[in-house]
Amino acid sequence: MTAQSPSSPFVAATLRFGLCAGMALAGILLLGCAGGVSAQDHGATARKAPAAEKSVAPAAAASKTSPTSKAVGEQVREALDSGIVAKKRVTLTVEAKKAGAVAAEHAPAAPITVAPGAIPNPAASRQYIRAKAAAMAGHGAGEVHWSYEGEGGPETWGQLKPEFNVCAIGKRQSPINIDEPATLRGPAEPIQFEYAASSASVVNNGHTIQVDLGGDNSITVRGTNFRLLQFHFHHPSEERVNHRSFAMVVHLVHRSSEGKLAVVAVLLEPGPANALINKVWTYMPLDSGDRVGMPPDMLDMRELLPKDQRYYQFMGSLTTPPCTEGVLWMVLKQPVAISREQLRLFGQLFPNNARPVQPVNGRAIRDAQ
Ligand SMILES: [Zn+2]
Repeated sequence: MTAQSPSSPFVAATLRFGLCAGMALAGILLLGCAGGVSAQDHGATARKAPAAEKSVAPAAAASKTSPTSKAVGEQVREALDSGIVAKKRVTLTVEAKKAGAVAAEHAPAAPITVAPGAIPNPAASRQYIRAKAAAMAGHGAGEVHWSYEGEGGPETWGQLKPEFNVCAIGKRQSPINIDEPATLRGPAEPIQFEYAASSASVVNNGHTIQVDLGGDNSITVRGTNFRLLQFHFHHPSEERVNHRSFAMVVHLVHRSSEGKLAVVAVLLEPGPANALINKVWTYMPLDSGDRVGMPPDMLDMRELLPKDQRYYQFMGSLTTPPCTEGVLWMVLKQPVAISREQLRLFGQLFPNNARPVQPVNGRAIRDAQ
């Protein structure tokens, strides 16, 4: 999970970069709107699949998807990789389906258009993108930033700054592998979900796609009410059950009036398209740092929950720096479906944004029957 909430400092950064928001919906990504970018002669090359294909999860790669969704990630990657300069426009093809409708067929892909005369400037482009991603991750210029691989990867988080120390030395870190034979089985109270149709906005914070929720959504468990702040995605799932990982996971981050955190994890596995995720993907900002508002009351989180709401429960931590402990985790046992095409789209933007599993260190894991 990530700890960012609508009240966190990163929202201020979001707003600074928010001018681009909304363009993704129209299928037009103004990569240069905050001072950056354009692409040179992408019309001829953007249909090829080179770099993006390598990073697609095997399951997703095996599926048959529309040229439109396949092209989006490629277009973004290629635009970023090949050099982008100020005030030039790259038009991306995005399915213009009615939000909320999950159709088996796809609108024909429109051709990619690129403003003529763009001047390539790869160094400036990459610098701009990195700075923007760092700003969105809550770090100013010159500060450390973390990632999921290479420099700044999970093994280094604890050393990146003193506040991240618990990532390295904590004894109740998340995620974990849930080893069923070692769980404490028995009756447990059901989680009371009190969710309703809500307004929301979708953020690409450079680490994941996060949806910040307005409205009145909460859960009650252990006699405490926790308000739903946001939810976000990891690909593949961070948590494992009997050493098995899942295609993705949704973390629903709740906070009590006393500041305690409770996260409900909903595992995702390939199957029919997911209606709620279709809404989120429709408004997904493709550019790191952007935020897109959804129409009022569009999201009803009850749509995401599985019928069987039994769960595993344990104490753990944030799964992103600063890895703060004392988080109540509830992993719903029954996965819900996401289509391979929906998986592929996220996987192209975030090939791997899962922290490796951490030692259980004798923690009690309740298997709520
Ligand atoms: Zn998470």
